[in-house]
Amino acid sequence: MSRFTRFDAPAFAKWLRGAGIQRTVNHIQIHHTWRPRKTDYTGEATIRGMRDYHVNTNGWQDIAQHLSIAPDGGIWDGRSFELNPAGISNHNAGGVCIEIIGDFDDGEEVLEGAQLAAVTAAVRSLMDVFSLNESAIVFHNEHSGKTCPGSGITKPWFLQQLKEVDDITTQQTYTVTDFPDVPDDFYGAASVQAVKDLGLIKGHADGRFGFGEEITREELAVILHRFMQIAE
Ligand SMILES: [Zn+2]
Repeated sequence: MSRFTRFDAPAFAKWLRGAGIQRTVNHIQIHHTWRPRKTDYTGEATIRGMRDYHVNTNGWQDIAQHLSIAPDGGIWDGRSFELNPAGISNHNAGGVCIEIIGDFDDGEEVLEGAQLAAVTAAVRSLMDVFSLNESAIVFHNEHSGKTCPGSGITKPWFLQQLKEVDDITTQQTYTVTDFPDVPDDFYGAASVQAVKDLGLIKGHADGRFGFGEEITREELAVILHRFMQIAE
């Protein structure tokens, strides 16, 4: 039974845009797991292990974090985005909690490569969707005596990595269709606009098309009915 989902950076960006998250998000917490270390990582079992520890030992309602960033660049989901995290004591309201898997204290492991690219892409996707700027990025050690996310990572360095990352979420444009969530490089973008112009699909009440979402039988019935009315 799979409990958690692993995204790559583009898939996470797409999922996040279509997720329709209702909770007000006002900051992004950056943590390292310390333990497990990068070398302890074995895939979903590692995420399950953290979840079990947080629930069974700490007594929390679920895994603490919304996202865990794997050494191979995987972005794992976790706690519901509709819930505040259990990331920083007395500073969790409105937070999205990101745990980078590893021990990034001086002389231990290094945040680099696919993992660095994944966390910067994830942070930029969150900044984009929740309209946040750099001031919304919070290191755990700003509110705690802990070194988290590791004494080997400074905030100015991390912010510079965010600027340098070649991230599709900020280069992507959304001009082919009337919808804000259909990227121009999607091969079917012109078709999406065509069915919108015909009145077959009108999109969500908030203006989104619902890119990547599945269609229900009742929605299909409405579309078929509209199509028959056009064809008559
Ligand atoms: Zn932390």
